[in-house]
Amino acid sequence: MENQDLSRRTFIQTAGKAGLAAGLTGSVLTSMANGHPGAGHQTAPDPFPYKQKPLPYAYSALEPVIDAQTMEIHYTKHAAAYAKNLAEAVDAEKVDTNRVSLEELLASISRYSIKMRNNAGGHYNHSLFWELMTAPGNTTGPSAALTTAIQKDFGSMDALKTKFNSAAIGRFGSGWAWVILKKDNKLDVVSTPNQDNTLMDISEAKGQPLFGIDVWEHAYYLKYQNKRPDYINAWWSVINWDYINNRYGKLI
Ligand code: MN
Repeated sequence: MENQDLSRRTFIQTAGKAGLAAGLTGSVLTSMANGHPGAGHQTAPDPFPYKQKPLPYAYSALEPVIDAQTMEIHYTKHAAAYAKNLAEAVDAEKVDTNRVSLEELLASISRYSIKMRNNAGGHYNHSLFWELMTAPGNTTGPSAALTTAIQKDFGSMDALKTKFNSAAIGRFGSGWAWVILKKDNKLDVVSTPNQDNTLMDISEAKGQPLFGIDVWEHAYYLKYQNKRPDYINAWWSVINWDYINNRYGKLI
């Protein structure tokens, strides 16, 4: 088994070098590295463009859970900076964004600079994060299919919440907590540091992010200050289950 792994790794390295020499795109190399030539196990459910999309609601829409000033600064300063810096990095590192999707870029992020890693992650994570929230009065609940999966993989919705909150509270410094869908179609709760996510080849935990929470202080400090647990508990009342249910349906 070890020898097989070794030879596979050697093949990928060799193929990677040959691919670079032949001018193959990152997506081809990514497919080869994943061992799924031509088709990934899980394709992008809702690929996000490289440019920042408009926020799907007003800055004040998530009040009182997330205040308008936090949303405005978060979207127009922090998230905008990730998008801008990502554009600089893809230009400098010659990524053909017409051919390589953001998800494909993340899957081969180890081949790029730390600037690419931080900003590709930052842009993807925030693009997803905005969609995961809705006005407090609009939240519904997990679909029948997602409820079944949650019960199977966590025991109950309450158990999932406890595990998720604990991962979000326990992330030291800045980062994210996620519910991910792994290759074996099981749900799991993990957290990642900084702007990493579980689509990245360098991430210890791997899978498609189903939903996640930004626990950088910029996401909550104006209203919650040092009380990160209060922000995390309150966040459940702006969670956009309709979007998550749809995303789950496309991933599974
Ligand atoms: Mn953020």
